[in-house]
Amino acid sequence: TRTPLIAGNWKMHMDHFQAVSLVQKLSWTLTDHDHDFDKVQVAVFPPFTDLRSVQTLTMADKLELTYGAQDVSQFDAGAYTGDISGDFLKKLACTYVLIGHSERRSIHQESDDVVAAKLQAALRHDLTPILCVGEGLETRQAGQHVDFTLQQLRTALQDVDAAAVAELVIAYEPVWAIGTGEVAGPADAQEMGAAIRQELAALYDTETAQAIRVLYGGSVKADNVAAIMRERDIDGVLVGGASLDDEEFANIVRFEH
Ligand code: 13P
Repeated sequence: TRTPLIAGNWKMHMDHFQAVSLVQKLSWTLTDHDHDFDKVQVAVFPPFTDLRSVQTLTMADKLELTYGAQDVSQFDAGAYTGDISGDFLKKLACTYVLIGHSERRSIHQESDDVVAAKLQAALRHDLTPILCVGEGLETRQAGQHVDFTLQQLRTALQDVDAAAVAELVIAYEPVWAIGTGEVAGPADAQEMGAAIRQELAALYDTETAQAIRVLYGGSVKADNVAAIMRERDIDGVLVGGASLDDEEFANIVRFEH
């Protein structure tokens, strides 16, 4: 049994003042509803500059909300102006880090090899990578979406052994469904969730494949999350826009109600 994970990727929204306010409101709402964080885990992905504030708040109030970063350098330290080491993130008590989000791949030209190197960096620093994969519109229209996405998966996992892969979370985010209001149907999410799991079984073994969580991301809202979460191979969601509103995100977290 895989514990559901509801993750909010804030992208480049929310300065550190706003971050504190959002985390407080979100925690308050969830606590007020007696949310069981062991049953449905919750994580937020604020900008780097917010992480210290989020850490301070979660520690002071012993919040069960976890958090992570949106990116990490493939290097550990050195002359890499503007980059952030996994070591720094671990010291800020991050649990997770997003790896290979489509916006990193497209806007910052992150290749599959860079993504693979960042995945290794995350593992080196004992951060749980949330590896993002997914096809663009043209690939989907050509019917190549499964092949394309599994190829991204294989490249990212090229040097990851079975012990390490068990720590991973995978997020399927079809690029055409991100921020567009165009949500992949639950059946589309399930098709890819099953294909990813099958590929993991082929690369590793069935037991490992069954243990890994696969999330769906792309225009998830409070009113479409339940149908997506009902799919057998989908274990959570990675939410962009709708994670910036405390009530909306709390309702996504509480998808069972
Ligand atoms: P939206 O939920 O805004 O479509 O963003 C999805 C996403 O990219 C999450 O990482």
